[in-house]
Amino acid sequence: MTSIQFLKGVGPKKAELFGRLGVESLDDLLFYFPRAWEDRRLPGKKEPNPVLEDAPVIRGKIKSVRDLYTGSGLRIFKTVLETPAGEAEASFFKRHSPRFDVFAPLRKDLKEGRTVWVTGTPDDPLFLTRLRADEYYADDDAAALKMHVGRIVPVYPLTEGLTARFMREAVYEAVQAGAESVGDFLPPALAARRGLLARSLAARAIHFPENNFELVQARRRFIYEELLLLALAWAIKKRQTRAVQKGFAYEVKKTLLTPFRANLGFRFTAGQAHAINEIFTDMQAPTPMARLLEGDVGSGKTVVALSAMLLAAENGGQSVFAAPTEILAEQHALTFERFLKGLGVRAALLTGRVKAAEKKKILADLAAGTIDILIGTHAVISDGVAFKNLRLVVIDEQHRFGVRQRAALRAKGDRADMLIMTATPIPRTLFLAMYGDLDLSVLRELPPGRRPIKTAEATEDVAFLAAKDEAAKGRQVYIVYPVIEETADADMKSVKAEFERLKVLFRGKKVDMLHGRLPGELKKQVMEDFAAGRTDILVATQVIEVGIDVPNATLMVINNAERYGLASLHQLRGRVGRGAHDSRCLLVAHNRGGDSAERLRAMVQTANGFELSEKDIYIRGAGEILGVRQHGDMDFKLADMSRDKAILELAIEDREAILAADPELAAKEHRGLRKKLRDLYAARWNLIDLA
Ligand code: ADP
Ligand code: MG
Repeated sequence: MTSIQFLKGVGPKKAELFGRLGVESLDDLLFYFPRAWEDRRLPGKKEPNPVLEDAPVIRGKIKSVRDLYTGSGLRIFKTVLETPAGEAEASFFKRHSPRFDVFAPLRKDLKEGRTVWVTGTPDDPLFLTRLRADEYYADDDAAALKMHVGRIVPVYPLTEGLTARFMREAVYEAVQAGAESVGDFLPPALAARRGLLARSLAARAIHFPENNFELVQARRRFIYEELLLLALAWAIKKRQTRAVQKGFAYEVKKTLLTPFRANLGFRFTAGQAHAINEIFTDMQAPTPMARLLEGDVGSGKTVVALSAMLLAAENGGQSVFAAPTEILAEQHALTFERFLKGLGVRAALLTGRVKAAEKKKILADLAAGTIDILIGTHAVISDGVAFKNLRLVVIDEQHRFGVRQRAALRAKGDRADMLIMTATPIPRTLFLAMYGDLDLSVLRELPPGRRPIKTAEATEDVAFLAAKDEAAKGRQVYIVYPVIEETADADMKSVKAEFERLKVLFRGKKVDMLHGRLPGELKKQVMEDFAAGRTDILVATQVIEVGIDVPNATLMVINNAERYGLASLHQLRGRVGRGAHDSRCLLVAHNRGGDSAERLRAMVQTANGFELSEKDIYIRGAGEILGVRQHGDMDFKLADMSRDKAILELAIEDREAILAADPELAAKEHRGLRKKLRDLYAARWNLIDLA
């Protein structure tokens, strides 16, 4: 690989700066893609395009120049240009220096009578009569016209010390030197069928497209390629996981399942029955299960998981159920106790707050195999926790657990089955792309008899009146604040300060407070009091976001609602509407900057978690929501899975065809693909197949 220092004007210093951007070789630079493109064509030559940013440009003959000194240390170099549309004024601004003439180069380059191009920020974007100038180029500078003005111009992520102009020139050179010889790794027939630009052409056009069409084509080519590689990598990973044999056969004995169902007091919804069926089929299969169960808040995922855990128990296997918070784990433990009554199944709770002696006993019993089901927080992942015969791992609210934590928990068993649950559903295509190694079950409906929750925006006063009303009727209320203590941000209300105020405001009613920093015992007490109806109003942080189930609670007030993401708002709202009474969720917003107005509107309009999730992905982008960026499983240069859904669909279709015809990618036309996949994903995803 040719080092970047080979380029004109790049010595060791500049090379180090490029290094910071991950660019070491000419090849790296060639594939250092723009983050945006500017349309620096002259007015009248521009073509609108959603990926193009308009950048004002004037071309004209210099009529006069003036050098002004404002006295406040600022100097202005004012040029008047004659353009086809009339006169225009372009002014350069610079800080005065007593040591040298800051405008010496301009005075030399911008002489009267010369024709120049100037870019900058216009006072009036429509008429371009006055421009705060930025870059300028002589009209007879042929090189400049190839890279800087009069065309579509690439915009790169930069680092201190590397200017946009220098970067464009460097990339231009890299393109001249290397684009033509860029090899293609896609099978030619496939590229032709999808109408994809040749990779060598795309490598130039992605930086310096001659027109919109080329830009669109070049982007499409690279987006497709990124998505196809990802889709292939998932499929290979899935195949690898599925190639493992469990060496254990389940039998559906129903010794526990039948009494469990009889105990429930309700019948499974069709969706639950279907999901349980899918899970049991997986568990009885010779290879380990890796399944995601998606279901809106309140759709009844817990009893589905319990059914799976009972199947494991019937067969002498242990299960672990991991929840993201202590409060939730404790709630689950209570629920399990209720549903498992009389079955002779032993469940235990392990969280960070379990006392040392008790913990020791639990660990011993786990190792001895006398505990069938372990419920807990992240604590269950820690090293000291060992099972006798762990067969099933259940992870609740999976977005709170990292990929590595999932793997660590699974490793506590020997080829254990895994069930992952989430209330943040994602569209099918995205699922295939992002969790391509999992199978999917979906609970589409809520259990019968649920009343819709009315959602509205409200002022604090209105929300508090509503709270008074509910409490007077014997119902219970949650009032949520974003932080525990007051911060410098006066806009943001805190649980502690508001608790003091609300105690007075709701005199005569029992007001209590819950947040993550309360001592464990106290938290538990607060929750128990609320669950038993001894508390009327619970002032809390987002700790109550997931899983809390108190049917008599009918009002959720969310303060600083603008601070929460849609998923959190929806989870919080899901704390009410769990009983026979009408419920409401009131959103108290303190401002509506950024996306917040859109989010609040979505909450008011939509009660369905699936629809909300789609909107959320649209508002924030898929990477944000699903935390993909964080766990770094994929780092696309151009693709965005929610925006490029149509291309993603093609890529998935093509992946299926490719692997069906040539599962090992051994055919000659697939060798390039295989190598590319190996370079990109083999180490990162431990894809032994590709070695
Ligand atoms: P989530 O999917 O949000 O985890 P849960 O499992 O906590 O939902 O279930 C919410 C509530 O619905 C619980 O009180 C649960 O007992 C109840 N439930 C679950 N399935 C049914 C059903 N088929 N019919 C009636 N109630 C159900
Ligand atoms: Mg749940």
